[in-house]
Amino acid sequence: MRYNDCHVHFSGGESASAVVAALKEARIDRIGAISPDPGQDPVRQNEAVEWMAGETAKAPDRLLGFAWINPLLSGAREIAEHAFCDLGFVGFKLIPHHWHAYDEELAGFWQLLSTLRAPCIIHTGILWGYGDSSRFCRPVDFEVLIGYPGVRFALAHIGWPWTDECIALAGRFAADDVVADVMSSQEHAPRPATPSASQMYIDITMGAPRPYRREALSRALAVAGDGRLLYGSDCSRPEDPEALKAHLRVDYGILSGELGLSDESIHRIMCDNFESFVRGPDA
Ligand SMILES: [Zn+2]
Repeated sequence: MRYNDCHVHFSGGESASAVVAALKEARIDRIGAISPDPGQDPVRQNEAVEWMAGETAKAPDRLLGFAWINPLLSGAREIAEHAFCDLGFVGFKLIPHHWHAYDEELAGFWQLLSTLRAPCIIHTGILWGYGDSSRFCRPVDFEVLIGYPGVRFALAHIGWPWTDECIALAGRFAADDVVADVMSSQEHAPRPATPSASQMYIDITMGAPRPYRREALSRALAVAGDGRLLYGSDCSRPEDPEALKAHLRVDYGILSGELGLSDESIHRIMCDNFESFVRGPDA
């Protein structure tokens, strides 16, 4: 079995060669390599993105860069566009730190991502380390992305503890696809330019603690299907193969041992879906 890990954090001190060595040992092919925390500082944001670009360029087949952008900082849209168009990043990472997805001031940022047709990993669920920010991280807030059909997004942590809300939103995006199909089959009813299931993925990165995890994964699979789930570790020590493997073991154990998924299904979740999330439905 080959694995991809959609969600790995970098702090700014790692070397690409040490990370690649760790990936080989952990039998992980590719990772979503997230640039360091931009904080509240536009200069730091630019530096973090530039630094990550330098490392991913050394192993572009294995380290797929996701630029962590704070959309409220000045120059955020410019650096996002530069990262995606010029620096080799394949997508973005966002943490809703004191902004709501539906805030008016986010509209221009979502429009840019929609135009770029860029994939975006978004933190949802309880948030550690950012003050009282969890209330900004409700999965349903991202229903607003229905208005930006070019944005492909994965809600991380299955939105823990709002896992049902996250799964319901995935169902809502999938349902819109069905509605669009029905309408387009009716005479004189043009297919509306609305979203599709291909917009929303669920990043199953650790969130729900062990006693809840089996249930959360089982429900996500039942509603969203195995083509919508992305394996991720949220690992912040990418040079340490044991840290990378720890989460793999837990999730493989649940998916295979407890939920009895086929190898084919597990391969989708732990490998292939990340490729289609990055490439997009048109590729
Ligand atoms: Zn994360």
